[in-house]
Formats: sequence, C-alpha cells, structure tokens
Amino acid sequence: MVTVDGRQLEVPAGTPVGQVAAQLGLRALAGRMGGRLVGLDEPVKEDTSLELLDFCTPAGREVYRHTASHVLAHAVRRLFPGVKLAIGPAIEDGFYYDFEVARPFTPEDLAAIEQEMARIVAEDWPIQRQIMQRDQAIEHFRLADEPYKVELIEDLPEDVAISCYRQGDFLDLCAGPHLPSTGRLGAFKLLTTAGAYWRGDERCPMLQRVYGTAFERAEDLEKHLFNLEEQKRRDHRRLGRELDLYSMHEEGGAGLVFWHPRGALVRQLIEDFWRKVHRERGYDILYSPHIAKVDLWKTSGHWSWYKDSMYSPVKIDEAEYLLKPMNCPFHILIYQTQTRSYRELPLRWAELGTVYRYERSGALHGLLRVRGFTQDDAHLFCRPDQLEDELVGVVDLAEFMMKTFGYHSYDVMLSVRDPERRDKYIGDDRVWEQAEGALLGALRRKNLDYVVGEGEAQFYGPKIDITLKDSLGRGWQGPTIQVDFNLPERFDLGYMGEDGTLHRPVMIHRTVLGSMERFFGGLIEHYAGAFPLWLAPVQAVVIPIAQRHAGYAQEVLAALKGAGIRVEVDLRNEKVGFKIRWHEVQKVPYMLVVGDREMESQSVSVRERGGGDRGRLGVQELAAELLPKAGLPL
Ligand SMILES: [Zn+2]
Ligand SMILES: [Zn+2]
Repeated sequence: MVTVDGRQLEVPAGTPVGQVAAQLGLRALAGRMGGRLVGLDEPVKEDTSLELLDFCTPAGREVYRHTASHVLAHAVRRLFPGVKLAIGPAIEDGFYYDFEVARPFTPEDLAAIEQEMARIVAEDWPIQRQIMQRDQAIEHFRLADEPYKVELIEDLPEDVAISCYRQGDFLDLCAGPHLPSTGRLGAFKLLTTAGAYWRGDERCPMLQRVYGTAFERAEDLEKHLFNLEEQKRRDHRRLGRELDLYSMHEEGGAGLVFWHPRGALVRQLIEDFWRKVHRERGYDILYSPHIAKVDLWKTSGHWSWYKDSMYSPVKIDEAEYLLKPMNCPFHILIYQTQTRSYRELPLRWAELGTVYRYERSGALHGLLRVRGFTQDDAHLFCRPDQLEDELVGVVDLAEFMMKTFGYHSYDVMLSVRDPERRDKYIGDDRVWEQAEGALLGALRRKNLDYVVGEGEAQFYGPKIDITLKDSLGRGWQGPTIQVDFNLPERFDLGYMGEDGTLHRPVMIHRTVLGSMERFFGGLIEHYAGAFPLWLAPVQAVVIPIAQRHAGYAQEVLAALKGAGIRVEVDLRNEKVGFKIRWHEVQKVPYMLVVGDREMESQSVSVRERGGGDRGRLGVQELAAELLPKAGLPL
C-alpha cells in the first residue's frame, strides 16, 4: 500500500515512481518519498507516502533545471576540450554551471553551446545513477583531469559511497535526482556569463559561470525572457542614473545613498504625504538622535542579539556610543518621561528615522539593500484591550498607503508561534494567545486573505508581513506589523490603570513603506520611472519651437508655476524633435510646445505621456485640468 498525494493506492513495491505517475495520468518530473527527493526511476517502497512533483512545484522545477545544467556541462565538455568542471546547481528561475576555461566565453560561444545542448536533448541519452567507491571515484576524476570534482569528493565523509550520473559518455559527480533522460528537457536558453571564484573565495581560481534557464513549455520561456527584458528596462539603478534621481559613490562608501534634486523631490512628496496621513490618523511625529550610548542598546537587547548588524562604537567623553540600527529605544525613552495614564493610551508615535545597519558588501544592491536608510517607523503603546483596534487601524493605514502608490495586489502572512516549541518564546501563553488573536481579528475585520506561518514569529511576539506585488508580479517587502512584549518588559514600562495600579502596555512596531530608499527603488521599477503626476519631479515642460517663442514660453511657465504646477522651460538651442525625445526619456508627464499659433491664441500644444497629441489647450484650461491630480492625493 502506497499513499500517493494523499490517496491510498495498491502499488507493488519496486514499481518505479514514473510508472506510478503514468498510471495516475500525471505528468511528474520527480517525487518525494518519505521526505526524500527521488527521480522517476526510483522504485517505490512498501508502505510509504509518495508526493509527485511537476513543474508547478519548486522541487519539480529544481530537478528539471538541474538536469539542464548537466546538459550544459555535457555540451561544454564536447566543444571545449580541456575544460574543467566545477559545480552546476539549479537556482531561482534557472540554473548555472561553473567552468575553468582558457578564456572567457563569448556570446558566439553561448550560441554554439546552446546548439550543442539541443543536439544532446535530441539524442535523448538516459540519465543513470552510478554508485562508486570513494577511491574509484577519485581515480576516475583524476584521470579525467577534473581537479574540482576530486576536491569535492575529498570533502565528503570517508564512509559514504559516491553518487555519479551518466548520460552517454558524460559522467558527473552528483547526488541527483534528475529527469530520466536528456530528451525530457523542453525549452531552455543560456542567458549570461560572469566570473565566479571557486567556492566563492577570492583566493581561489576565477571560473566562468554560465547562467541559463529552462521551462517545460516554449511559451513560458518566451514569457520569462520578456519579463527579464522588462526588468532590465525598469532597473532602478539604470533609471536612477538616466533620470538623475540618486547616486552612490565609491568615495562615499558602499551602500550609502546620495539623493539628487529630482530624487529628493520625489522623496519629499512621499514624506509630505506620509506625514499628512499620519497626522490625520492620530499619530504624533517624533525626531530622535542618530547615536546613543552603548548601555541603552544593552538594555534594549540589541547589543546582544543584533550586534553583527551594528557598527563599532565611537567614543565621546569617555562613553561609548553606537549608531542606531533601530528607533524603538528612543521612543521608549520619550514614553518614560512621564507617568502614563490609561486615559492617554493609545500613543501613536511615528518617525522617519535614519538607521545604520551592517550588510556584507556582496549583499548590497542599489537602493534595495543599503547600509544607511530611513525607516518610516512607528511605535504604538496601548492597553491590551486596545490592541485589536490599533492593529485594525495600522492595517487600514497600510492598505491605504499601498493603494495610493499603485500597489493593488499583495500577499499577507501572519507569523505565529511554533505550537510544538513554546519554550522558544518570551511572554506567557495567555498574552501570546491574546496577541495572535488580535492580529487574526484585525485581518478578519479588514477582510484580508492571509497565510499562517507557524514558527515564523519573532521570539518576542507575533507579526504580520505584507509582500507587495509590482506591475511585473514580483514581490517586494512591504508593511510589517509586529506585536512586542519584550521591550515593555526590558524597559519596565507601565501605565496607571483605572484601578489605580501600574500595568504593562503592549507595544506595536510597524513600518508601512519599510525604508524610503527601498520603497523608492521599488517605486521606480513599479512605474518604470514614469511616476504618476503627483509624484513626478517635473510635471510639465514648456518647449518653444524657435528662439522668438522664448518670451511666450516664459509667460506660460510663470502662469503654470503660479497655479502650483511643477514646470520647467527648455530654452536650449536644439531642434524641437530633439527636445521632445529628450523629455520623453525623462518621462515628463506633459510637454507643452509653443510656436506662432500658440502665441497668437494664448494656448499650448499638449503632448501627454503615453497619450500622445492632445492638440491646443488654453493655459488656464490646462492648469484647471492638471491641478486636481497634481497635488498630494488626499
Ligand atoms: Zn546533478
Ligand atoms: Zn521598533
């Protein structure tokens, strides 16, 4: 008896997994049997449970793409005698293989390798496992002049048999599993090459890494390739340069962001909007220092469990200070300046607080992973009986902000305790149940779909994480809402209850945008640099056709500026066509061309971004049209 995908089946032991799938009419690429990933040729055991994996499952895709990496190595082996093979895993969305070759691969090489791969697929070699003794395997790869494979085997424990896979005359060291034959591979494409050190260690030889991707169906590959192009087009690092929004400098330090006038203007607009929304929803806005004494971070616990992300202390008057990685302890110090009464709660305190955290230089990425950033942070101090209402308020605010910035689809995860390991968490059971219940209640009251992540909670409290989906369907870290019992305890926070005794408040930490840097990076990619009118650093540009129209262009500029539109005039001595193309690349929402006829009729010829030619409009008429959508969306 075998349980297949939850169904009980009479399958004789020894039947290959692939045959079980065929009997059920399922298109499997691999299976998971007793928790282990297995190939389709693996015989089914007695009384076991089997999960069949197709291309829709991450493990199925991994087996598929890992097989593609073997076909890649096989092809390189055929075309480049003397090549030495390193490793070739499947990765998110594709696979790679590392090679030691005499010279870097050229684009022509990649095309030739792809053709050879297609040949190997057409030849449909069975991919078969071959177990070898350790000595025998070392001998084989030594004779084959594969020093990296020999090194890998020597790293394995002495008592294990060595697993290899053969397809035709090509044998590779690998734990498997793979597809049953090379012919099972459908659509694939080699994408790029890059230098990569053996074992990621710069003291080791530099290898050539070939990246590729593979899909079962050609149309899915096409879609993926289109998406990759689109991602390149939207890359915030490229657009940041082209639109003159921000820069980063080797001389300034890795992971530190310099905001240029246009980028800074977009940020100011986001911040103005953010402040306005927060004030309207009963928040107070705080400012706090960038550094504080080490002792504060010891009390908060950051010094012991967050030390690796913090920078070394600086000495001021014999005391050691740390750059802040978080704003929380500062808000707590402000809370502690008075005896708080149950009547004042909840307190909702928000700050655009700049924090500094260490990230490895290899992990830094444009605006998305940086070493100094401004969080849109807030801490809410409330009574336990207010927790659910406060959480509803936070979720509501998060939804409102996300919608305003054009994110209409998102995934919500509720992270709760691991019920099996309650000892891992601080705070008593009753309080945890109340907090988890409050988060759940808030999600239900807001009618949001969510998944529950058991064991995903922090040790000090449960949380909600929201992942935004951008216009390409990619996920971006969005709002996080965290209930915390730990800091109120550590700082011994209290409030005077109705009963005249001191009680412990609950603390909510939350960010909506995350950090200004990452949010801005995401926003650039989401809109491909074409910000909606209210966020566009330049909303309109006036373009005179000839020198004699410059005076009138200035009049139009003054009129629109007076009406509150962010407008510029382009007086460069260039052809109109050139200017129009230039401002198109700058993604300016409105271009207002003025010549003789416009001068005569006191109008402008309007070209709208994405909408083309709108014909002539009176200046006041245009201002009246733009104004309602040009200001903060409130
Ligand atoms: Zn393999
Ligand atoms: Zn906090």
